[in-house]
Amino acid sequence: MNPKPLPHLRRALYDLPGYRPTEGVHEVPPPRLLSANESPEAPPRPAVDAAARAAAAVHRYPDPGCTELVAELARTHRIGPERFVAGAGSVALLQLLFQAVAEPGAEAVLARPSFELYRPLAELAGVRPVQVPLTGHVHDLPAMAERVTARTGLVVVCDPNNPTGTAVPAAELAAFLDRVPPTCLVAIDQAYAEYVRDLAAFPRLASDRPNVVVLRTFSKAYGLAGLRVGYLVADARVAEQLRKGVPAYSVGSVAQAAAVAALREPARMRAVTDATVAERARVRAVLLRAGWDVPPSEANFLWLRLGEAAERFAGWCAGRRVAVRCFAGQGVRVTVGTSEDNDDFLAAAAAWRGAARSREGVPA
Ligand SMILES: *Cc1c(COP(=O)(O)O)cnc(C)c1O
Repeated sequence: MNPKPLPHLRRALYDLPGYRPTEGVHEVPPPRLLSANESPEAPPRPAVDAAARAAAAVHRYPDPGCTELVAELARTHRIGPERFVAGAGSVALLQLLFQAVAEPGAEAVLARPSFELYRPLAELAGVRPVQVPLTGHVHDLPAMAERVTARTGLVVVCDPNNPTGTAVPAAELAAFLDRVPPTCLVAIDQAYAEYVRDLAAFPRLASDRPNVVVLRTFSKAYGLAGLRVGYLVADARVAEQLRKGVPAYSVGSVAQAAAVAALREPARMRAVTDATVAERARVRAVLLRAGWDVPPSEANFLWLRLGEAAERFAGWCAGRRVAVRCFAGQGVRVTVGTSEDNDDFLAAAAAWRGAARSREGVPA
């Protein structure tokens, strides 16, 4: 008996590894959740209430233009509403950007390691990813500029970079943008902008270059990861075209209402991110004193460079019920959580060092 043949799907789809969430994060009770860079705090009460009110009317489609959300974003950032495009998470908007440049033969220049989803999104859109290694822990912008050719449709700069946490100095970014042809789109993914405290060196949300698009999200500092809302800021003429590529109704009404309410609580967002920033400094200082290799981070996570030991260390943490994100052969990314979360992680890290010392016969 011949099995029924399968439909033809694109080779690119078969070749994709598929996103694998960190093992154990959906167990009950959950481990310390330090693998996905979520906020450890529940969203602000007014956002939860607004979501509940909106939930009572979900027999209606949402506002496809996200009018109130865009108006609130425009007020918050003092940028014209015509420059915003909202989407179902910034990942959906990144996917749109790859699709928007996917002429036959198109390439996208990316950093490596950087956000894990860029590459599959590029490949699925039919765009060839060109990955440029970081230098130190930072984007090698001169090397990325070298790789830009007439085929390059998009360059993605993740700032601060996931998973290393490092920010690109504004002067270096400006020099880079001077080198990229104005016909090539440059996306600056600022998913962690709200955790940046070295603001003098951080690029602004609204660029005056028509080829620059900046992306932000409600998934991290605003604590709305489960609702899927993100946005981008572009030149108004570019935004007008991109908006057409967002499927109508893709940002749900519950998500829109919660995001508006969260934006109206700036003091709360500031307090939550300040707490994370303080913990970020504390955890990094403890790790550095113990001899770990941890670059300075402007985001809500730290990068532990471990090379070949990355998988063993991630497994070690999992065994102590601390979920971290493993980049095999490179390192481990650990989210900065509550101080209790972080203490459990630090205890796991200290125990690892202790075990390593006894393995090597070095006195502790
Ligand atoms: C978390 C993250 C996002 C956010 O994705 P959403 O789809 O908005 O949840 C985007 N870019 C980077 C680099 C991230 O780490």
